[in-house]
Amino acid sequence: ERLKQGLTKAKQGITDRVDEVLKSYTKVDEELLEDLEEVLITADVGVNTTMDIIEKLEDVIRTKKITDPQDVREELKTIIEDILSKEDTKLDASHSPTIILMVGVNGVGKTTTIGKLAHRYKSEGKKVLLAAGDTFRAAAIDQLEVWANRCNVDIIKHQEGADPGAVIFDAIKASKARGVDVLICDTAGRLHNKSNLMNELGKVFKIVDREYPEAKKEVLLVVDATTGQNAVSQAKSFKEVCDITGLVLTKLDGTAKGGVVLAVKSEVDVPVKLIGVGEQMEDLQDFDSKSFVDALFG
Ligand code: GDP
Repeated sequence: ERLKQGLTKAKQGITDRVDEVLKSYTKVDEELLEDLEEVLITADVGVNTTMDIIEKLEDVIRTKKITDPQDVREELKTIIEDILSKEDTKLDASHSPTIILMVGVNGVGKTTTIGKLAHRYKSEGKKVLLAAGDTFRAAAIDQLEVWANRCNVDIIKHQEGADPGAVIFDAIKASKARGVDVLICDTAGRLHNKSNLMNELGKVFKIVDREYPEAKKEVLLVVDATTGQNAVSQAKSFKEVCDITGLVLTKLDGTAKGGVVLAVKSEVDVPVKLIGVGEQMEDLQDFDSKSFVDALFG
């Protein structure tokens, strides 16, 4: 299926290399664990998370008295699944109205993800509205409009350079008037520093809380999986300045370093809700730890 296909590279980067290591040993020893450690680090699992996994693996090898390298595979899979299944929460837009605020730096796939979500909810028969809240770039507004047309949903936009808060304000007003179920808002992705970011997002959040208290609010941070550890640090810094309710990891299809999902899961205390596995409308999936690990190890 789509997920398996989307994770082909990640599988090559992690599971295939794990299998190579296991095949090259006849017994389970320190060296084998060191080789596995290297595979995980290379796949961007992150140093801390890798250490944690290797320690757990050592423990289980000791307690279960595992001697056959092939038996290590199943244990590793279980450990990875345990880490990933921590806080498995799906994006829930069943409440009407729901407002989804998309945050993240330029280029990570924010606009594409908004388009994919619009397609998803529109297909479910919901009334969807987009808000072009990234007023810094004309291109961002245009691109969002392309997606709105593609999905056949309405969009609220102002001129480039307009106040993002005003765009969100208008979008909320329109949502109420038109009986919108899901309002998806883009936000600025180019910000000079942290306090600038806090200010801009803070203003938008305040307007949402004040003008749309009846809406269920989701704040999704979009990060690019191909940037590896950079995605982890972006998640950490955004988390410091706003209440993120979920993460979206995009471009997982484009990287062998799928281990970043593990790093994000264990180092950032926010659930991964969605993953992007391609550029098409259908290439957005709910993150489900079991299917993810099965696709990876299957
Ligand atoms: P934004 O600047 O954050 O709004 O980023 P865009 O949505 O414009 O995406 C930047 C590029 O990444 C575009 O070429 C998208 O097609 C591509 N992209 C976004 N999500 C995915 C994904 O899940 N997989 C792949 N392969 N490409 C993606």
